[in-house]
Amino acid sequence: MNSSSTRLFAEALRLIPGGVNSPVRACRNVDSEPLFISTAAGCRLMDADKREYIDFVLSWGPMILGHADPSVTEALRAAIGRGTSYGAPCPDEVALAEEICAAVPGVEMVRMVNSGTEAAMSALRLARGVTGRDKVVKCIGCYHGHADPFLAAAGSGVATFAIPGTPGIPAAVTADTLLIPYNDIQAAKECFEAHGPRIAAAIVEPVAGNMGLVPPVSGFLETLRSLTQAWGALLIFDEVITGFRVAYGGAQARFGIDPDLTVLGKIIGGGLPVGAFGGKKRYMEQVAPEGPVYQAGTLSGNPLAMAAGLATLRKLKTLDYAALEERTRDFAEELGHIIRSRGVPVRTPSLASMFGIFFGEREVRNLEDTRQCDQECFTAFYKQMRARGIYLAPSAFETGMVSFAHTGADFAEALDAARAVVFSR
Ligand SMILES: *Cc1c(COP(=O)(O)O)cnc(C)c1O
Repeated sequence: MNSSSTRLFAEALRLIPGGVNSPVRACRNVDSEPLFISTAAGCRLMDADKREYIDFVLSWGPMILGHADPSVTEALRAAIGRGTSYGAPCPDEVALAEEICAAVPGVEMVRMVNSGTEAAMSALRLARGVTGRDKVVKCIGCYHGHADPFLAAAGSGVATFAIPGTPGIPAAVTADTLLIPYNDIQAAKECFEAHGPRIAAAIVEPVAGNMGLVPPVSGFLETLRSLTQAWGALLIFDEVITGFRVAYGGAQARFGIDPDLTVLGKIIGGGLPVGAFGGKKRYMEQVAPEGPVYQAGTLSGNPLAMAAGLATLRKLKTLDYAALEERTRDFAEELGHIIRSRGVPVRTPSLASMFGIFFGEREVRNLEDTRQCDQECFTAFYKQMRARGIYLAPSAFETGMVSFAHTGADFAEALDAARAVVFSR
């Protein structure tokens, strides 16, 4: 089969490491090649061979309105006519900051950057700067971008490819990263007992989305909040996925927990490259040029990105998150029923507009649980769904995403595809 995607991929393999610009896209662990996408609209992607797919990846989270949403496209069209980068402040960055600070309870001030990686890296630097401490508590299987200190036992592609540790990161850097299992209240307590006075921050995905979908168990986030408070460390919520997705105000609004710093990305850029970190004024005032903690960016606050983000948030504010959550839950539950009716054990948890697909009996509460899932089953399911026009994340370590553009007919089509999947065991 010599499809356009196959030809493009062969060419890309010569020019780009692994043929992709981000590892999980390569689809290697599901024994597949990537599809090259040429256009996208609503919840649908079209590949270079003009085959259409219902998209449950949504660019890994940003496209909660669906692709090429008219209001975002219109805002971008208008912005592009005004020039694409100034290297100077622009009106939309103030408007977007205003929108974010009003929506996210723990964010009083915010600094725009260009990716979630950059935002997480900067938030940690700030936490270290204001506390004068070096250590950071991180959960095994959480992903906070690819900055050095976070690549100890990370989720997403690092977990998908079972990369033990990444060459190129000095041991001294990850030596300050303290690891605990996600959802392990006891381990969190022991970690602070052992290292408390040297801990600058605990960073966590308040709903884990990079080891599959793993919601926090009752008391876990609360424990992190009280431990950080007790030991004079900062609590950093990495809401790059959950921000404006699990609720308009993010997981902190949904769960009523007040972190010191918040990391944002994905949705706030409306599909353009954006990240942001924000938090309490007393900490954010320590960021340069107001304070001594240095952070900068040539394209930060880029007018196109700000316009797309602003249009996205303004539209999201008018939409019904509860209804989207219900549609997602119905879809995930029915998907689970369909697969189990074949005698194949699976769990399909959902939270807000996110869902997981875990083949196996066991409830998934941390990375180890995800690892126990049946990879062969997942691969078979992924490949057959894709062949039937359903585009799922190519790894059980990623989270399914639903947008406001997915209709009842789209869900029905995806469920029909699932009914046709053949499991070999
Ligand atoms: C995607 C993601 C990041 C990294 O964002 P990039 O824009 O890819 O650098 C950080 N944290 C979480 C929770 C993410 O899902």
